[in-house]
Amino acid sequence: MARLAQTAGLTDIQQEILSTVRDFVDKEIIPVATELEHRDEYPQQIVDGLKELGLFGLMIPEEYGGLGESLLTYALCVEEIARGWMSVSGIINTHFIVAYMLKQHGTQEQKEHFLPRMAAGDIRGAFSMSEPGLGSDVSAITSKAVKDGEEYVLNGQKMWLTNGGTSSLVAVLVRSDEGHPEGTAPHKSMTTFLVEKEPGFGEVRPGLTIPGKIDKMGYKGVDTTELIMDGLRIPANRVLGGVTGRGFYQMMDGVEVGRVNVAARGCGVAQRAFELGVQYAQQRHTFGKPIAQHQAIQFKLAEMATKVEAAHAMMVNAARKKDSGERNDLEAGMAKYLASEYCKEVVEDAFRIHGGYGFSKEYEIERLYREAPMLLIGEGTAEIQKMIIGRRLLEEYRFQG
Ligand SMILES: Cc1cc2nc3c(=O)[nH]c(=O)nc-3n(C[C@H](O)[C@H](O)[C@H](O)COP(=O)(O)OP(=O)(O)OC[C@H]3O[C@@H](n4cnc5c(N)ncnc54)[C@H](O)[C@@H]3O)c2cc1C
Repeated sequence: MARLAQTAGLTDIQQEILSTVRDFVDKEIIPVATELEHRDEYPQQIVDGLKELGLFGLMIPEEYGGLGESLLTYALCVEEIARGWMSVSGIINTHFIVAYMLKQHGTQEQKEHFLPRMAAGDIRGAFSMSEPGLGSDVSAITSKAVKDGEEYVLNGQKMWLTNGGTSSLVAVLVRSDEGHPEGTAPHKSMTTFLVEKEPGFGEVRPGLTIPGKIDKMGYKGVDTTELIMDGLRIPANRVLGGVTGRGFYQMMDGVEVGRVNVAARGCGVAQRAFELGVQYAQQRHTFGKPIAQHQAIQFKLAEMATKVEAAHAMMVNAARKKDSGERNDLEAGMAKYLASEYCKEVVEDAFRIHGGYGFSKEYEIERLYREAPMLLIGEGTAEIQKMIIGRRLLEEYRFQG
């Protein structure tokens, strides 16, 4: 039988990259993931290995020292990595979003300054939109930048930064008043600042504090933090793209590719859950036969495999659409929505197949069960995806009567 989640039409280079990553996942990630996750330990050795493989520069253009690969290649690598451990895909995801935003929207000087070191994995990126009072409603951001000579002074509190502690470059979205009088639409008065900092916790730069790691139910190992700006001074040449008022669009562009990425993670976690479920079902006996021989369990496996296939196909479609240069917000929203919901369902079915043992920390499915819910929330909740999908459908199917 062919393996699930195969992708037709890949080039030799794509196949080679994927087989290298898959090998790395099987040998270096899966054997240690659950233990590290239970200890909430940062997987430094794995990150060093990813650096060596060049994964931090996968989509960064060759002229800046990256591999110049497509979103599809990237998403398929993320799928493989998440199959091993979702947290590791989180470590490269925010980096990739910031690199993508720089590539698309940065000034020449900003690209030359950041991208080569990002490609090498020496500068690592995080992005920050959410605040304690808002996540879905980005237009309600309250953090503010005010111009003071050749600098901006930033104040406000940010929430939920994946890689907030370990990163050295944070793309921060704030409200900026310069040239945007009262009453300007919120999305036109926001600016993305490229904030360089030391990795670590505490005051990592004058006026910038990363208080510590948020204690999470899953998605451990990767740090998620708050970020406090109190009179943080940023030079004007660190406004992304050099012009204020474009931050909202820049971030939404980044989040759109991020959604394909989250869909890919959902695919990877679901694949692993299927693998665990189908293996366990052939080992565990009840009523004189392997539980895989009970039709109810076979039906579960059939449903799980079908969901893995469907999510993978939608994710690949969304990535290919973006790679072709077309708008892909509809496809990315659908892929993210479906892959994260299916992931949760497939993981739950694999958990049920494990019976009581699924509840034991000795079994990998316990970790997956705590990881899957994050995908329902990150890069826009299911409700936000449905809003995007609904709006686009009404654009495409406008009533002509
Ligand atoms: C582990 C983790 C890592 C994260 N990493 C990052 C990061 O790196 N950078 C970053 O900027 N953010 C990050 N986030 C934040 C994440 O993007 C937000 O949590 C998410 O967007 C939801 O926002 P919220 O938590 O404020 O929920 P809310 O916006 O308060 O929503 C609460 C509920 O109301 C629903 N809802 C909201 N508005 C509507 C509406 N109009 N119609 C119907 N239902 C609605 C939502 O779907 C949700 O169910 C992270 C979050 C987590 C948990």
